[in-house]
Amino acid sequence: MNMLNTVAPDHTSSLNRCSSHPAPTLSAALSSHADQELKKWQQDRKHWEDTLSVLGWLSHCLTLQPVEQPGFTTVSTDGRYLYFCPLYSATLTDTERRFWQAHLIWHCVAGHLYAPLGVHAHRWHLACDHEINSLLLALDVPLSDNAVLFPARCGHSALQVYHWLADHPSPQSESTPDIHPAALWLYGASALADSALIALWRRRAHLAAREIPALPTMVAAFCVSR
Ligand SMILES: [Zn+2]
Repeated sequence: MNMLNTVAPDHTSSLNRCSSHPAPTLSAALSSHADQELKKWQQDRKHWEDTLSVLGWLSHCLTLQPVEQPGFTTVSTDGRYLYFCPLYSATLTDTERRFWQAHLIWHCVAGHLYAPLGVHAHRWHLACDHEINSLLLALDVPLSDNAVLFPARCGHSALQVYHWLADHPSPQSESTPDIHPAALWLYGASALADSALIALWRRRAHLAAREIPALPTMVAAFCVSR
């Protein structure tokens, strides 16, 4: 039996257990507009189920959570919830919104939930975004126009790219629209990644490498290395 069929998106699965974590402080009652945008993100899961099995599975590991809070203007994740600003969501095309869902999922797979921001937080975010966007490229996920990617460094780790970016003449000119998971606490999130959550995502990465058919070699190797 394919293990993914037994762990996939029913909320009783141990690999989806984190969705029962107490609601974070970023959550709030939904406006009709937020509810309308939420339906789009929910529908995107169906898109992944129909087109890319690894994301079809992993998209159910994050509870979708609109956030209508001053200062929170884009998207992020804490490994349990995928947060999005409904106003920002409304500006996205279907392709862009799906990209952000995939991007945030891979922040979790890559272990960026607890990664230190380092001395140069923006440079570290660029490096992390490049790392996972390279994987999305290998998975044939269309990238958003503003996605961070340094083509000469595809296949390089976030740490390698972080050091490489030290010679970037103007890193501030490169934008990272999402909020790095390790910086989410600045926006009032109460649920920070703990060792159990990090281990859970590591198990998911290993399971994906073992069970997802036809996963690109680069992506499978990355998952095994988590
Ligand atoms: Zn990012």
